[in-house]
Amino acid sequence: MFETINQELLEFLNHSPTSFHAVANMGAMLEQEGFVRLSEGRPWELEAGKGYYVTRNDSALIAFQVPKRDFAGFQVMASHSDSPALKIKANAEILVEQKYVKLNVEKYGGMLCAPWLDRPLSVAGRVVVRRPGGIAARLVQVDRDLLIIPNLAIHMNRKANEGYEFNVQKDMLPLFGGIGAKDGFLQLIAGEAGVEEEDILDMDLFLYNRMKGTVLGLDGEFIAAPRLDDLQCAFASLKGFLSARPKESVAVHCVLDNEEVGSGTRQGAASTFLRDVLHRVNSGMGRGEEEYLMALASGFMVSADNAHSIHPNQQDKADPTNRPYMNGGIVIKYSANQKYTTDAVSGAVFKSLCQKAGVPYQTFVNRSDMLGGSTLGNICTSQVALNMVDVGLPQLAMHSCYETAGSKDTAYLAKAARELFSSSVCGDGDGEYQVR
Ligand code: ZN
Repeated sequence: MFETINQELLEFLNHSPTSFHAVANMGAMLEQEGFVRLSEGRPWELEAGKGYYVTRNDSALIAFQVPKRDFAGFQVMASHSDSPALKIKANAEILVEQKYVKLNVEKYGGMLCAPWLDRPLSVAGRVVVRRPGGIAARLVQVDRDLLIIPNLAIHMNRKANEGYEFNVQKDMLPLFGGIGAKDGFLQLIAGEAGVEEEDILDMDLFLYNRMKGTVLGLDGEFIAAPRLDDLQCAFASLKGFLSARPKESVAVHCVLDNEEVGSGTRQGAASTFLRDVLHRVNSGMGRGEEEYLMALASGFMVSADNAHSIHPNQQDKADPTNRPYMNGGIVIKYSANQKYTTDAVSGAVFKSLCQKAGVPYQTFVNRSDMLGGSTLGNICTSQVALNMVDVGLPQLAMHSCYETAGSKDTAYLAKAARELFSSSVCGDGDGEYQVR
């Protein structure tokens, strides 16, 4: 199972250079399994026993399976579709001394800058084009080595190895071509989208790393690839979802966008997307507001976003007693200040799900003298107050454009997700929970 799921994951990552592509690819996987696409702008007619999915902004996706009989609660796993990247600005071309053309970019999310240098890059995203009677979005992926952001030679900065402060406006602009490339960028994108240049009205285009994902280590212990944070969790959640057999709960696979920039968009965790979908599932099954609130109270949500593994060269950066390792299983994240939603109850529920699934788990807490990152879990709670746990898969080099993770862990999360989606967690409001 480990090898197959890793190959599938790497294939998925190679074809998902942006959140738009990731969502399109998940949609295709769902349709292959008979899931029906719904639109937020049209009425929904839901049938018990069937599966559906809906997207927002083409960059967030929620899929759900309606159980055959009346349901108890919602069983949700949420992850995010976006990763830090360099976004191409409008009017991108900059001429350099009438000899070169480079592209103007800005940062999307909190990336490590250095890994983007000195490697083949290309462009992907969406363009919005004029169509008779309106506009339409087109996915674009330039599938060849196209751009490079060259480092400065050490001879011109002898202190380069003593730490460097990157200025994105100056240091991170990719070289696009010689002077002959002038006015060529829009032309290239129009060609890729199969439209005329003048029909392009706007675009969301990002640089992406051309290096494909791979398996490494003496015994293939590790995988390395772009965008493991958080497409590794999104993919594992979907695999678990597709193999689950929900009985008395609504299984919900949820992938939100814009986690890397604070989640405050229409398709992010702070939006109404998840709440709106759960609401419509509830009313679509002929149930009222009180039943909706009961289903929330009886539900459970796993916020799945990758976690930091112990670094082989930097062991002192981690907490002294909580030591997550790659291939050690799913990481449950804790924070006394509730940067993560996990508490003793949700942690215990998740551990019992892992035990039922036969999957190992480990724990993460930040060093007490170090601020950690945040994630989408507690942002979601203001819209959908489900009992929630924060977990992730252990990885290294988070927010690099090429990250490393364990080759066993994707399968562990897929198994735990299947268990979550096939079960139901019911609280009696009195501190006792049934996990069945
Ligand atoms: Zn993440």
